[in-house]
Amino acid sequence: MKKKISIAIIGSGIAGLTLANFLHKEKNLEIEIFEKDNIKNSSTSGIQISNNARIILNKINFNQFNKKNYCNIHSIKIFDYKNLSKIASLNMNFFNKKNSEYFCIERNKLISFLLNQLNKNIKIHTNKKVIEIKTEDTNQIFFQDGQMKKFDIVVACDGIFSNLRKKLSKENLSFRHTATAYRGIIKNMGKIYSEKVNLYLGKKKHLVIYPINQNYDLSFTGITNDLNGRSKQTYQHLSRKNEIKHFLRDFHPLIRKSIEKCKNIYTWPIYSHSNTFFGKKNVFFIGDSSHAMAPFQAQGAALAIEDAYILSKLIKNNLFSVKQMEKIRLNRITMIKKRVERNLIIFHLHNIILQKIRNFILNIVCNKKLLATMFFGKIFNFKA
Ligand SMILES: Cc1cc2nc3c(=O)[nH]c(=O)nc-3n(C[C@H](O)[C@H](O)[C@H](O)COP(=O)(O)OP(=O)(O)OC[C@H]3O[C@@H](n4cnc5c(N)ncnc54)[C@H](O)[C@@H]3O)c2cc1C
Repeated sequence: MKKKISIAIIGSGIAGLTLANFLHKEKNLEIEIFEKDNIKNSSTSGIQISNNARIILNKINFNQFNKKNYCNIHSIKIFDYKNLSKIASLNMNFFNKKNSEYFCIERNKLISFLLNQLNKNIKIHTNKKVIEIKTEDTNQIFFQDGQMKKFDIVVACDGIFSNLRKKLSKENLSFRHTATAYRGIIKNMGKIYSEKVNLYLGKKKHLVIYPINQNYDLSFTGITNDLNGRSKQTYQHLSRKNEIKHFLRDFHPLIRKSIEKCKNIYTWPIYSHSNTFFGKKNVFFIGDSSHAMAPFQAQGAALAIEDAYILSKLIKNNLFSVKQMEKIRLNRITMIKKRVERNLIIFHLHNIILQKIRNFILNIVCNKKLLATMFFGKIFNFKA
């Protein structure tokens, strides 16, 4: 009998579990997943999944997932944060196809969907931290508990703080701390926010609010690049009251009151990698471990899903190589990263004249299907 190809997936976030879903039915593969924590963490955030990722998730039956668990989005409305005057409205039906809509969901619900569909033969090891990968004759992975295992292919999906990348590439992994995010979930806010993403633009800050299910629970992410508000801590942590008060101080009272309803708001320092790294020999890096970027275009998870899908196709067709992955992915990722960085400037303008010019252009681009498709279609109309 032909020997099976062994694959280690390190990290059970969106990238790792999507990859497992695309590979688990392949009879010639033997897959193991290693996760340093428990798979689901406490629920602190929602996530927007754009059309480019939705069409990929549909290939693994996302369409059959109970619709109560997420909310399809039909428009993105952009407002001024102080007086709530409308700046622009992007009709997402320019990009939505039936059953392939842009949607928002609680992150844990997406993780549950990906997990529950996995073939029971896949071995999932939780609380099993990988500390190093070596690529000498074979790929060896070393665990914190002292064990070592060999695999034909290793895929590191260990997120933005990837220590595995740092050790394997021997690079001085440089993060850029570009901003700070405040995130939380507000329960049962009623229909007023249904089926749309609301984006509020302000001086050195913006806020996004969107529904994450059919109960009208809302997720919000406020972002500031005001360095006075910059968190000194490295990881997600519970926000201090005066931090939130400072962030919300000049928002319209309606917005302030809505956000203040949330009891647990978390502070997330926002980082991005300066370089993209896809791996070495038969060790691949995908998702945030390869190209973490700030969430100003809601593309981090979407690109992790794209990476997982593309790598699964290469593995299935026996064409996998880091060079090939780079050839297919690098240009797209670089293009999106550039836009994300530009968005931070565009969203946070403080000069009134520049704001007026921005608002005028946004209104024109969002209103006309042709212009909207030319501008946003490059991201959302991904051919999978
Ligand atoms: C404020 C904010 C808002 C965002 N909003 C959006 C959005 O709306 N839309 C969007 O598309 N993206 C968004 N993102 C980005 C998105 O969350 C990430 O891009 C996405 O989660 C990356 O998935 P991943 O699987 O690569 O990494 P992760 O989800 O970070 O998963 C990594 C996994 O690896 C595990 N792990 C780490 N190290 C090890 C180890 N050594 N051994 C074993 N396991 C390990 C971790 O425990 C974790 O489970 C947002 C990010 C932030 C910070």
